[in-house]
Formats: sequence, C-alpha cells, structure tokens
Amino acid sequence: MFGVRETEVLVIGAGPVGLFGALSLARHGVRVQVVDEQFRTAAHSYALALHSSSLGLLHEAGVAEKLIEHGVRVDTVGLYDRSQRQAEMKLSDLSGPYPFLLVLPQSAVEALFERELRQHGIPVEWNHRVSSLRPEERHVDASIDRLAKVSRGYAVATTEWIVEKTQTTRAEFVVGADGHRSGVREALGIPYASEGSAEPFAVFEFHSDAGLSKNEVRVVFDEKTTNVLWPLPGDRWRWSFEWGTRELNDAFRVKDRLAVPLGGESFPHLSEEQLKSLIEERAPWFEGSIHDIDWSMAVRFERRLVSSFGRDRLWLAGDAAHLTGPVGIQSANAGLTEAGELGSHLTRILRENASLNLLEDYSRGRLKEWRRLLGIEGGLTASSKAEPWIAQNISRIAPCIPATGEDFVRLAGQLGLQPESVP
Ligand SMILES: Cc1cc2nc3c(=O)[nH]c(=O)nc-3n(C[C@H](O)[C@H](O)[C@H](O)COP(=O)(O)OP(=O)(O)OC[C@H]3O[C@@H](n4cnc5c(N)ncnc54)[C@H](O)[C@@H]3O)c2cc1C
Repeated sequence: MFGVRETEVLVIGAGPVGLFGALSLARHGVRVQVVDEQFRTAAHSYALALHSSSLGLLHEAGVAEKLIEHGVRVDTVGLYDRSQRQAEMKLSDLSGPYPFLLVLPQSAVEALFERELRQHGIPVEWNHRVSSLRPEERHVDASIDRLAKVSRGYAVATTEWIVEKTQTTRAEFVVGADGHRSGVREALGIPYASEGSAEPFAVFEFHSDAGLSKNEVRVVFDEKTTNVLWPLPGDRWRWSFEWGTRELNDAFRVKDRLAVPLGGESFPHLSEEQLKSLIEERAPWFEGSIHDIDWSMAVRFERRLVSSFGRDRLWLAGDAAHLTGPVGIQSANAGLTEAGELGSHLTRILRENASLNLLEDYSRGRLKEWRRLLGIEGGLTASSKAEPWIAQNISRIAPCIPATGEDFVRLAGQLGLQPESVP
C-alpha cells in the first residue's frame, strides 16, 4: 500500500520492557520498529534492581557484563520487624551464573538497551505516539503521530507539542510495552482488574556515612507499613517508605525524562526533616548521617492484572499487563522475562513458521505466574518450617521477594513458604 511503512514487529513503548523486547528480536534479524511518545529514556533510578534471572537473560543478549560493572551486587535480603532482624533470604543460594541482585538505576539500563539497539541499526523513534490500531487477519495497521514542539505567544511564550505528521505502519505483530496506561490493552478491550489497594510510597536517594553492609537490602515492616533500604553505588542509599497517609493519584506514576525537574521542586514536602523523622519512627537503627538528597519522589503503586496477555497479532508485556508493589522489583523484571519470551516466540513464528499457539501459551504461562505473585491463585502458604512471624506476614513478604518464576519459589522456600497447589 502506497505510503505505508512495513515491518515485522512494531514495539510500542521504549521503557525497559519494550527496549529489551526489540533487542531480543533484532538480535535474531527480525525487522522491528520501536516508537515512544516521549522524547528520551527515563532520567531516574525507578525500578533500581535486576533479578538474578534477568541477568541470565541479559547475558544471552550479550549485555549483562556491561551492566554488572556499574552496579552494586546484593546477596542478602534482611527482613526486619522494626529494629529486630527476623529472617533473611540468601540470593547466593540461587542457581544460574549470576546468583545476586544487581542494584542499578533504571535510567542506566534503558540507556544501555537503547545504545545496543542502535548498534543493530534500530534507532528508537522518540516523539512518535501510536494513536490508533486496526487489527486485520494477517497484520495490524497502526497510525503513528510524529510530535513536534512549537513555541506560541509573543509577550508570554509557551511551548506545546503538536502532531506534525501522521504515518501508517503495517506490522505482522504488535508488542504493547506501553506501560500502565496501555493503549494496546485498551484497543484489545482487555480488562485490567485491581487486585488490592494501592500503596503510596515516598522515596529518597541521598548520601550517608552509614556503616552498613552494601551487600544487603533491608526490608522493614511495622504494624502497617513496609519500608526498604537499598544500597546504591558510592556513599549513596535509597529509603522507600510506605506512605499510607498520602492521597496520590495516577499522575504520580509518570517517569521523568529530565534529571532536574523543570518548574521547581516537584515534592517540596519530601524534605530532609521528613526523611529523618521517617527513619526515627520506622528504622531507628539507621544511624548514618543524611546529606545531599539528590532525588525524592512520591509514587502510588497499584496491584493490577490483565485477564489475558493479548490475542491474535497484539501482545502485551510489562506494566501494560501487571502492576505490583515496588519492593521486590517484580513488575519490571517479570516484564523483561515477558519481552524475552515474546521475542523468542515471534522469532520462531516469523522465521520457522512455528504455530501462533505459542502466543496463547505465553499468555497462559504469564497469567499463572502473576496470579501466584499477586497471591490470587497458587500464592504462598506457610509450611511447618516457617517461623510464626513469617507465617503472619506472608502476604506482605511475597511482593518483597526479589525474584519471579523458580527463583521466587526457591527464595520463599528459605523462609519456610511454598506455593499453594492449584487443582
Ligand atoms: C516514579 C516511579 C517510581 C518507580 N519506582 C519503582 C520501584 O521502586 N520499584 C519498582 O519495581 N518499580 C518502580 N517503578 C515502576 C517501574 O519503573 C516500571 O515497572 C517499569 O518502568 C515498567 O517498564 P515498562 O517498559 O513495562 O513500562 P514503562 O517504563 O512505563 O514504559 C512504557 C513506555 O511506553 C510509552 N508509551 C505509552 N503509550 C504510548 C503510545 N501510545 N505511543 C508510543 N509510546 C507510548 C511511554 O512513553 C513509556 O516510555 C517506578 C515507576 C515510577 C514512574
């Protein structure tokens, strides 16, 4: 068709999941187009750790070592009841070539994926928004708006984004890695059910002389809240506090693209005094100095799951399909697994004429995994080996386990927890 661009796979969304999906396809010579409505990759650390299994996947894609040299290796997750250490999970017991958690900003992971893609001759098409999708039997037509910034006004100039041009891409398959407000999910009419109440968190990244081991992530529970201390490179740390009293709407789940927010401080109430008072109240054992808070934010984490990961020629991965709490970094890491799986299924379908049923299996497998992670079906239950404190806190501990799949089961097993059998 005249004026229509053709590709094998259109990846919508250049977050970590879309970028990795595109990379997985490009490595196998599949023709990919990647578009994102924003103007660049994320500017902050957000989902700041890669699971052991993700590192295995990234190794296969030839990028694990390039990331490992820049991150902090964590081999223990300590579980605390306020100041009392109650239990720990040893990541070093995991099998696989990388038995640890790699703490590294999401911005660094996205930047590396983008560079790798460019080396495969695939530049991310930033400022390109998919505005409609028209699925046909053997392809999908996508309308893609190219956005441009214009200045308006004379005395008081303002800038705004306009649609400069609209193009059509005809793709054999579409990967919807377009985040929690996914338009692909909407076009498919797939429900995105809430699976529990939202958890607002306040996050602070700062410098400290805290003399604590950098090989450990500390998860701290009190009666009502879950809080977590992350070691960052150098003398930096991240505290994330569940912040139950705050009402945050969906706008507080938008990734910044600028390292320094424009228009002043976004969260003026997240001050040094606020951080110190939260530490005193929730983790008085943290005695290090606090200086130079270089990033703070408030964000609301929902728990949601789709009823299907897609159909026919449109398939979902990452936040487009699921959301959970932040502590175990499960959503982004499971998203990488999904991107890798979709990449390999689509390669087999396009190159080896494999059956489209592979994609139905993908959806079934991912739903089963997410029902377990969210405790909907096949969730964790206490065995006779679980300490009473662990047994009492199962539903709070499950989202804090930094793993999915077999590794999730193995780490839970260290605490005396096991998945419920599903009939
Ligand atoms: C403020 C904040 C803090 C966070 N902190 C944590 C944390 O502590 N722990 C944790 O595990 N996770 C955290 N997360 C979540 C984590 O960042 C996500 O799980 C991760 O980014 C999901 O990756 P994704 O690729 O699926 O989606 P995203 O990273 O959301 O990427 C989706 C992309 O799709 C693009 N897009 C959407 N619609 C269109 C369209 N129509 N056309 C073209 N492009 C489109 C968007 O611009 C975006 O770049 C945080 C998120 C935010 C916003």
